[in-house]
Amino acid sequence: MDAETFGLFRSTIRRFVDERLIPAEDAVEEADAVPDAIVNEMREMGLFGISVPEEYGGLGCTMSEEAALIRELTRASVVFRSVIGTTLGIGSQGIVIDGTEAQKREWLPKFASGAAIASFCLTEPEAGSDAASLRTAAVRDGDTYRITGTKRFITNATRANVFTLMARTEPDVKGAGGISAFILPADTPGITLGKPDKKMGQKGSVTTDVILDDVVVPAANIIGDVPGRGFKTAMKVLDRGRIHIAAVALGMCDRLIEMSLAYAMERKQFGDRIANFQLVQAMLADMKVDMLTTEALLQSVAAKFDAGEAVSLECSALKLHASEAVGRIADRAVQIYGGAGYMAEYKVERFYRDVRLLRIYEGTTQIQLTIIAKQMIRQAGA
Ligand SMILES: Cc1cc2nc3c(=O)[nH]c(=O)nc-3n(C[C@H](O)[C@H](O)[C@H](O)COP(=O)(O)OP(=O)(O)OC[C@H]3O[C@@H](n4cnc5c(N)ncnc54)[C@H](O)[C@@H]3O)c2cc1C
Repeated sequence: MDAETFGLFRSTIRRFVDERLIPAEDAVEEADAVPDAIVNEMREMGLFGISVPEEYGGLGCTMSEEAALIRELTRASVVFRSVIGTTLGIGSQGIVIDGTEAQKREWLPKFASGAAIASFCLTEPEAGSDAASLRTAAVRDGDTYRITGTKRFITNATRANVFTLMARTEPDVKGAGGISAFILPADTPGITLGKPDKKMGQKGSVTTDVILDDVVVPAANIIGDVPGRGFKTAMKVLDRGRIHIAAVALGMCDRLIEMSLAYAMERKQFGDRIANFQLVQAMLADMKVDMLTTEALLQSVAAKFDAGEAVSLECSALKLHASEAVGRIADRAVQIYGGAGYMAEYKVERFYRDVRLLRIYEGTTQIQLTIIAKQMIRQAGA
């Protein structure tokens, strides 16, 4: 995208956020659902196609461009982003990165237009952080596989037309090597969904179990047509996803700082606006520092990613820093608002709950730390 077109697209998203999404936040929280009309508007704007290459009908944004657009979008409740998040990220990128040409031609144009929604099924009841221990079994039967197992906490499962699903095709290979990634249409017989989970926050985004009972899928649906490579595909998808999650965090940092500053300038105590008290100023300044360090790291990691550098360690460091930073910022926002910060009407308590998730999914903070340290040790040659 040339700079002018990109700038225009970005301002369109900014207007959409200010005029359409922010005013709809309370209704979404109340109904625990994003209205279809808003989903359709997002579809018409091309938001589902941000990450799909142009040759398959998408906008073909670089990671730096995607991050800038997602930051813009997540100045509104992160729940709106979650509608498109799995389709432009973890649900589709396995096919973009490792899919065969036929798989790309079949699915990517549908993702780009928003005609098909994709979800990502890795986590299981007994396999979360230790995803390589997953048990969902795919047993070869002629030209097909028969898949049985349960996937847990799957975002957008209720909306999905297709799942990128990780299952064990080689039962004798215990770890990552025995896992394959399947493209599994959601209407395949044998798939049922659990009840939507009741969550701490992010009301309006849906997660459920995906239960697979002897689901028959063609062997040709293995991503890249290469069995045993699924875990590697999942890890590549997650590296990229961590940059995306950092952009989500950054959008919320912007919003929380904007709100906190406005409140501190308006609220008066002891005959003065609270923004004039140095202890409140310290909270505002700490928020800004957390935002700026996240912004700088995000821009640098996304640029390296776009240049094709190996940035797995940096992606983990970025996801960790951004998700912890927005957590600190949300906590300070509640504090600056005082009692109002605890009240639903003022929204910061909602954002505080919403951003808590960022430290947990797509690899917890502890898992990012272990990834960083293991790579440091490997690089040191030990
Ligand atoms: C709202 C929501 C949406 C989600 N969406 C999806 C989705 O779309 N698709 C999908 O596949 N998954 C999804 N997940 C699952 C998510 O990725 C996992 O919850 C996450 O990876 C953590 O796994 P777990 O919940 O099993 O926690 P556990 O792995 O049981 O971890 C529990 C605690 O132990 C710590 N821990 C675990 N191992 C170590 C270790 N080696 N060293 C140090 N500490 C460790 C963890 O950091 C954590 O603090 C979602 C989860 C939520 C809550």
